[in-house]
Amino acid sequence: MFGLSKIFSGKSTEKAPMLEALAAYRSSAFAIGIEQSWVKDIQQTDGKSWHVKLVLPFAGLGEIHDIEAFINQKLACKVTIEAQVKLSEASKFKQIKHIILVASGKGGVGKSTTAVNLAAALQQEGAKVGILDADIYGPSIPLLLGLQGAEPKTADNKHLLPFEAHNLKAQSIGFLVPSDDATVWRGPMASGALNQLLNETDWGKLDYLIVDMPPGTGDIQLTMSQKVPASGTVIITTPQDLALADAQKGIAMFNKVNVPVLGLIENMSYFLCGHCGEPNHVFGKDGAVTLAHRHGVPVLATIPLATEIRESSEQGHLIAQNNAESISETYKTAARVLVSSLYYQQAQSAVEIVITDD
Ligand code: ADP
Repeated sequence: MFGLSKIFSGKSTEKAPMLEALAAYRSSAFAIGIEQSWVKDIQQTDGKSWHVKLVLPFAGLGEIHDIEAFINQKLACKVTIEAQVKLSEASKFKQIKHIILVASGKGGVGKSTTAVNLAAALQQEGAKVGILDADIYGPSIPLLLGLQGAEPKTADNKHLLPFEAHNLKAQSIGFLVPSDDATVWRGPMASGALNQLLNETDWGKLDYLIVDMPPGTGDIQLTMSQKVPASGTVIITTPQDLALADAQKGIAMFNKVNVPVLGLIENMSYFLCGHCGEPNHVFGKDGAVTLAHRHGVPVLATIPLATEIRESSEQGHLIAQNNAESISETYKTAARVLVSSLYYQQAQSAVEIVITDD
């Protein structure tokens, strides 16, 4: 834990350029730079070297190198940044700060693959993360985490212990009910099972709980989204017209139940040609961007159709945690942009509440 801020004590004027440079940094995730309240300490270690301590209010450690490079260039000095992630808001559910739903209008678009890799990426970015598989039609998270055949356990006969794999806590609706029975499920039954998993799993402290929702926009998905205290949702789509039309229905459904749509992720967006390296837009181009513009939501990422993604998934590996694969950076950037959007959205609504109260 960093000590109390001393940035304005002593020779604070010398530290002003550093604060200004930090504030001037820009990226998709750090849309308005490094805020002064995130800076806990600035020390000049020798003539041209500085040490800065940051506490980030969202998972974003993967960008620290870029921030250092920006400052090094801007101030022509050497800066090392020590950072940790600490969400400042109160928990929304038990000891869970944010529940984020990952949804799709139709099946087979890569929703579960994206959900589990977003969870993995958030963990890499410095957050405590859980993943809850709520896809009653085909719970695949245990498989994607290499947990097939695992049996749920309890320590006190009241609560289920979450599974722990790849530094994530995990739980799946598939452990409660066999997926063959899903066709006879109704909304209340599905939302009951989801609530049971949320309430009766001993999640402990989590920054983000990612919920892999069942695909579609029917009664089941509506009831489930209504019952979960979610901070927001991400909708996964492919560039195909049919998938986009269903994604649009997804946006409408979440608007109806007042769950903020944090953004779209276009999966299988393009295929990188093994020969010429050019992106090939197999399923169409710019569909998600057009849809996102129409509804005023961002496209958080475009993820290529890549053999490595499918192969890693089949082996129970999380590609987002494998730094040797360039695709891991795509998932990490998407994860940073997702949780920073959530941070700015919450910060903005807090300001609106203050204004209303005056
Ligand atoms: P959904 O949850 O939407 O039904 P899945 O995540 O189960 O979809 O993915 C369906 C199939 O597509 C799986 O075999 C998965 O490995 C593969 N897949 C998902 N995303 C990609 C991608 N970007 N590139 C290649 N294969 C992918």
